[in-house]
Amino acid sequence: TKVLLNNRIVDLKSANVNILDRGYQFGDGVYEVIRFFNKSYFELDAHLIRLKESCEKILIPFKMHLKKLESDLVYLMNTCDYDNGYVYIQISRGVMNRNHIYQDEVNLKPQLVAYTVREDHRPLQQMEKGITAYLTNDIRWLRCDIKSLNLLGSVLVKNEAYAKGAKEAILHRDGIITEGSATNVFIVKSSTLFTHPANHLILNGITRKVVLEIAKKEKLEVKEIPFSIDELLNADEAFTTASVSDILPVTSVLIDEKSYSIGLGKRGEITKRIQDSYTNLIDKIPQD
Ligand code: PLP
Repeated sequence: TKVLLNNRIVDLKSANVNILDRGYQFGDGVYEVIRFFNKSYFELDAHLIRLKESCEKILIPFKMHLKKLESDLVYLMNTCDYDNGYVYIQISRGVMNRNHIYQDEVNLKPQLVAYTVREDHRPLQQMEKGITAYLTNDIRWLRCDIKSLNLLGSVLVKNEAYAKGAKEAILHRDGIITEGSATNVFIVKSSTLFTHPANHLILNGITRKVVLEIAKKEKLEVKEIPFSIDELLNADEAFTTASVSDILPVTSVLIDEKSYSIGLGKRGEITKRIQDSYTNLIDKIPQD
């Protein structure tokens, strides 16, 4: 495995980072995960723009040219001996003696790390059969629009879900569904799609954006408005979206020990239509 360290490509075993890196000490940084198929990144520009915006939101100066970063990431992808996978990229605020205050540090330089992970297939079985999600409290902070390295809230809820035998945690704040631990959540009711508005309570997912574009093209009605736990349980269909976990039907929801099936308890028609359009887009991505 090769690693992009700032602007150098190095072997994983020589890719050392300083333990005083603020990413390590404070989770003071941001990240992205971008899928590639047949050695072509999917929605690369949208991810890099979000990476830049995440940096700006936490006042990390983003001085790289997006085109240069793009070509570095393509170069990195081309060093690996597989055609399908994803790249993980993180940017931390930099290295300094541990101190919450960073503003007096003149030599603070953001640190970028990126590496690829092999992922041969989309999760085809789950895309068809669907998943069980576990409903729990959204214990995260109030700036979920930032793709922050601080993932403790997501780590805790996802492990809670996993311990109950569920694949994803669906989160709510005072009865309003926000998103999943690492996914956005949609429901379908009477052929209308509902998903939480892209505000500070959710990450504005790139897959969410693509699904909204698909819905528009397919002339499906979409409402970016909050919906409740009851509306989730009474939906005709529900699904989650994310770059790596794809578009997965949620066929049942666990609340405490009780399981509620969603709609007919199997993948819905509209979910399948959206998955099929998404597959078409992936099949059509231009080669880099
Ligand atoms: N919401 C959260 C909290 C996430 O961590 C992620 C991705 O990891 C998503 C949504 C989906 O985002 P995307 O579609 O850009 O991968």
